[in-house]
Amino acid sequence: MLGDMTASTTPATSARLRTEIPGPASRALQERRAATVAAGVSSVLPVYVTSASGGLLTDADGNTLIDLGSGIAVTNVGHAAPAVVDRVREQAERFAHTCFMVTPYEGYVAVCEALAELTPGDFAKRSALFNSGAEAVENAVKIARVATGRQAVVVFDHAYHGRTNLTMALTARSVPYKHGFGPFAPEVYRVPGSYPYRDGLTGEQAAAAALDRVDKQVGGDSVAAVVIEPIQGEGGFVEPAPGFLPALSRWCSEQGAVFVADEVQTGFCRTGDWFASEHEDVVPDLVATAKGIAGGLPLAAVTGRADLLDAVPPGGLGGTYGGNPIACAAALGAIETLRTRDLAAAARRIGETALPRLRALADETGIIGDVRGRGAMLAAEFVRPGTDEPDPDVTRRVAAACHQAGVVVLTCGTHGNVVRLLPPLVLPDDLLDEGLSVLDRAVRAEAGR
Ligand SMILES: *Cc1c(COP(=O)(O)O)cnc(C)c1O
Repeated sequence: MLGDMTASTTPATSARLRTEIPGPASRALQERRAATVAAGVSSVLPVYVTSASGGLLTDADGNTLIDLGSGIAVTNVGHAAPAVVDRVREQAERFAHTCFMVTPYEGYVAVCEALAELTPGDFAKRSALFNSGAEAVENAVKIARVATGRQAVVVFDHAYHGRTNLTMALTARSVPYKHGFGPFAPEVYRVPGSYPYRDGLTGEQAAAAALDRVDKQVGGDSVAAVVIEPIQGEGGFVEPAPGFLPALSRWCSEQGAVFVADEVQTGFCRTGDWFASEHEDVVPDLVATAKGIAGGLPLAAVTGRADLLDAVPPGGLGGTYGGNPIACAAALGAIETLRTRDLAAAARRIGETALPRLRALADETGIIGDVRGRGAMLAAEFVRPGTDEPDPDVTRRVAAACHQAGVVVLTCGTHGNVVRLLPPLVLPDDLLDEGLSVLDRAVRAEAGR
């Protein structure tokens, strides 16, 4: 079966451009937007989407584009997965909202049951549901502070955890995420992570360096939580050296600190496992999830040890919309799709197809310093030839060339020099092949080969 076989007005099976990108209809919408939408909210590629399915986006000009971004790792099950669409429709017809904190409903409980089963660890678990990744991470810190009676939070270079005040403090990069938005929340300590391409350290060495800083700056007995992305997302798809995450997790157990895995981008089969922590058998105390959880509807969760979550007294966690019934219905449909179509295996196949091609491209062009990633979370880091100096200009031009050719790719990295691929896990092989060929041509054109 190819793609998510949803009803679509355009049964296209490849990128098909009818106009320049963006076309006249999108440009007209862009003008309306400029008159009303805040400038601080920007778009990578201002084509205005009218429908999407099977890894293809159709825009207001009738162009179809191959989506290698999934709305930033959200539509893992496709843009309109049938199980998500059906459950959303059915729930919307029954009721849209009661507020779980006022009069509850089954969907919330069912999502928490699924999370308890799917997240790493065999112990008793609890979950609390929220609306966004930032809210989940922020609540994980609240829970860790109450449960430990401590305040300090340890985070890493290149980390991204969101745009609320606390999660800005946890995030590393200033422009555009933090600049001018302070003051930020206190008791946040940043230490080096593990970046094998740039630090040349083993995971154990990188962990020892990071933990030495923590000991000197804060002291382990003051640390409430270590918050880490098992593979960094916005910071550059940085996959830590083997041994790094297990060493941090061990240190947390020894110090009585809470190990929080921010799996907002890596979760829900993206990396070829349900959660990226599983790759090295790391069992976080708390896992923050969002993005891929609900097939495109806003939902987020903190899941973890029952003793930690239950340390917060009744009324301490929640929110008006957290665990909205339609979002929960969507999550149950997304989880069913991930399971029945074995999309973890699909993610691994995407990595097996793309990584060798990206590596060959790096060897042949000399402008890609590092190719990395797992499953369907893949990246190429662009550098000036013969050096490891970041090259954001080439990166921008490569991404722009892909966009012009009808392939949506995203960039990331503290220096903006990483092209990242996050295809929907249901992307048909021929579209993946076509998307990679476009990227291939864009990189070769930049390198003059
Ligand atoms: C996207 C992201 C967040 C923030 O999620 P929002 O839903 O945008 O608030 C937090 N952590 C990571 C790792 C992310 O990728």
